[in-house]
Amino acid sequence: MKSANSIISSYGTTVFEVMSRLAIEHQSINLGQGFPDDRGPEEVLQAGADALLTKPNQYPPMLGIPELRQTVAAHNKRFYNIDVDWRSQIVVGSGATELLTACFMALIEPGDEVVLIEPLYDSYLPMVRRAGGIPKLVRLTPPEWSLPRAEMTAAFSDKTKLIVLNSPMNPTGKVFSKDELTFISDLILKHDTFAICDEVYEHIVFDDQSHIPLMTLPGMADRVVRLGSAGKTFSLTGWKVGYLTGPSHLTSPIAKAHQFIVFTTPPNLQHGVAFGLTQDDVFFADLKRNMQAKRDRLADGLTKLGFSVLACQGTYFLSAAPPPDAKGPEPGDEPEDDEALCHRLTVEAGVTAIGLSAFYRDLDMHGFLRFCFCKQDGVLDEALTRFEQYYGGVS
Ligand code: PMP
Ligand code: GLN
Repeated sequence: MKSANSIISSYGTTVFEVMSRLAIEHQSINLGQGFPDDRGPEEVLQAGADALLTKPNQYPPMLGIPELRQTVAAHNKRFYNIDVDWRSQIVVGSGATELLTACFMALIEPGDEVVLIEPLYDSYLPMVRRAGGIPKLVRLTPPEWSLPRAEMTAAFSDKTKLIVLNSPMNPTGKVFSKDELTFISDLILKHDTFAICDEVYEHIVFDDQSHIPLMTLPGMADRVVRLGSAGKTFSLTGWKVGYLTGPSHLTSPIAKAHQFIVFTTPPNLQHGVAFGLTQDDVFFADLKRNMQAKRDRLADGLTKLGFSVLACQGTYFLSAAPPPDAKGPEPGDEPEDDEALCHRLTVEAGVTAIGLSAFYRDLDMHGFLRFCFCKQDGVLDEALTRFEQYYGGVS
């Protein structure tokens, strides 16, 4: 019998799904997969529910309902002073994941090189490869996660078609600085390439950091597509509504790919998101403030328990290495990789995280784990209590 596609077949089930299933099986507190555990904003839910009952539920326009494209354009103007034509420069899709795939399908020609920055979100590599792209990986490492500029320069060539840039960055919590973005934009101009900017965490940025879309830098408006997600901005990950903004010479082929992947996205959810994006500034400030308080709650608690906690400037993920413990492998045994460590912590401590190695093609991070902190305070506290019992009981 002939075999299925070799690239897709070479990947297993995503680590997020695997660890969520394991957490359910062991009644573990799931700080693995990134999703909030509350209902989401009541008024946005209501807008989606009202639209379900009062508006048409047939195929909406392929690019997205006009109301949502208009509000995405207004959101670009309001937060970043980006001017776009909502008719030709916005595409709505079924989550950022779908739109990323649409971008890769639309822009990559087999043999094109694509610069990707590790650690990376799990869909980038398989989908770039499936589109025929040749990945050129540039690796960031803890604790600083600083951009290795020489490696970045070396990764670009005249064969480079595009770079994928995720800022604020999952899983590192890094927010790229203006200086780093300028460096990247110079490479984009020098090599005549495009950028797909995954900015799904644009409103989850902490302390004195601010999110700067690469698109706002000189010369970039013509070369950058930036993506947002209602899943992150409205804490409704199950809605799977994403939106992208770019120059029409890029959004036009991307829309053609989108029409062959999902074609349209549920209209009532689009109405809910359109309503959400018109919320007052206080809505977006609250999101930031609440997430920052949760970051601090988990970071402080883990630090007190002896974890090495890394800085987190944005997203809802914290990286930390647990303290050494005597419940791991015996001296002389094979060292425990972070997948095995997460498995052990799920089963024995009752808390689930994701090992950072999962975000690299081929690197063992030796104990750095990603913890998702967009959970109710009581849930974070219970996770800390379980860790205290687990590590406290270790001799
Ligand atoms: N990019 C990154 C960096 C993410 O963390 C996520 C969240 N899963 C996505 C894209 C996908 O977003 P969506 O759920 O809208 O597909
Ligand atoms: N983005 C989420 C995370 O990083 C999960 C997405 C997914 O489950 N595919 O945890």
